Amino acid sequence: MTNRNSVDHAAMRDMNLSLILNTLHQESPLSRAGLAQLTGLNKGTISTMVKDLLDSHLIREIGRDTSSSDVGRPAIFLEPNPDAGYIIGVEIGVDFISIITVNFGIEIISRRYENTQKYISQQAVMDRILFLLRESCEQIRKWERPLFGIGVGVPGLIDAASGRLIFGPNIGWKDVPIKSVIETVTNAPVFVANEANLSALGESYFGAGQNYNHLLLISSGVGLGGGIIINGRLVDGALGFAGEVGHMTVQQDAAARPCNCGNFGCWETVAGRQALFDRIETSIAQGRVSWIDEVTGGDLSRLSIQLVVEAARRKDVVALDALQKTGEWLGIGIANLINVFNPHRVIFGGALLTAHEFLMPTIRQTVKERTWSWMRQNVDIVIAEHGEDAAVIGGVAIAYQDVLNNPRPWLKANGG
Ligand SMILES: [Zn+2]
Repeated sequence: MTNRNSVDHAAMRDMNLSLILNTLHQESPLSRAGLAQLTGLNKGTISTMVKDLLDSHLIREIGRDTSSSDVGRPAIFLEPNPDAGYIIGVEIGVDFISIITVNFGIEIISRRYENTQKYISQQAVMDRILFLLRESCEQIRKWERPLFGIGVGVPGLIDAASGRLIFGPNIGWKDVPIKSVIETVTNAPVFVANEANLSALGESYFGAGQNYNHLLLISSGVGLGGGIIINGRLVDGALGFAGEVGHMTVQQDAAARPCNCGNFGCWETVAGRQALFDRIETSIAQGRVSWIDEVTGGDLSRLSIQLVVEAARRKDVVALDALQKTGEWLGIGIANLINVFNPHRVIFGGALLTAHEFLMPTIRQTVKERTWSWMRQNVDIVIAEHGEDAAVIGGVAIAYQDVLNNPRPWLKANGG
């Protein structure tokens, strides 16, 4: 039987190491004295733990703390070591795959982006992802630093425990064991989550959500997803399905349109990209004059968000009206979510970000009209910092978070 005291001691050590890494992530650069002050740990503990982390290259020393009152003995600053190792972020999109490799300072070292429309099956897309990941892993092996993990964002329901995609309504995938397949091929820790949930985590670690403990991310594109961060933690729900805000029913009866999920009247059907395009098509079909009709020669399959924005900038009334209506519906859903979760910040992302100059004023106005003043005075609505990289940066964040929260496998003393 393992000695109870030694178990407690090991658990305490893990907790302290994690506390130090998390504090350095948020507040670095910090001196050892600064770390002691912020963590409440005594100087002896800090000194031992910092030595372990330095020996394992997870953190590094830089510069000198000239603000130190201890004249003649300036302290050295500490920060996470960008060269500690690498993380891969992956997004499996509706019609693309995107893969980035970053170092521990979250600088992008390499990037692959491929359109997947040419692949005829789900298996072919998975095979291509595995091929690209094998290439990335081989590259990292040459750099002789560890691969901390691979985070994969997917537009669908993910079983958190097994990392299996249960259902991806917009990519038409069902029951794919993504985590185990990638783990077998790469031999690295793999984390799979819904792409909007990951985007929220990415913005919270490395973007517009830093230093906000209560945060909502709304991502509107082909689908409409959300990520909820409460008390600094991503809300995953009982099974990992939380955040499917796009499938809140907001319309019924004749107004309700079918959704890819099988329901009718989902928020996605009135506030997603297709809803914006449908509004333009309907207006043009009703005989309203639009620059879009002119420039596409009437072929509205050529519609893109960029084109709608271009039209709106030319004061095209059809485009402006469609953006106005879509912004109102986005604002209605966001107001509902603000009333439920009382966040400090709402981050708007996804493909519709391209139209943010037209959508954001309407979203803010609608939220103003539909939330209590006490609630809205303390919330701001901003755009995502990582734009189209939101989900891959989120993939990086989930693996990064795992290193900060559970550093033991990466410590030299433990064979890391
Ligand atoms: Zn739906």
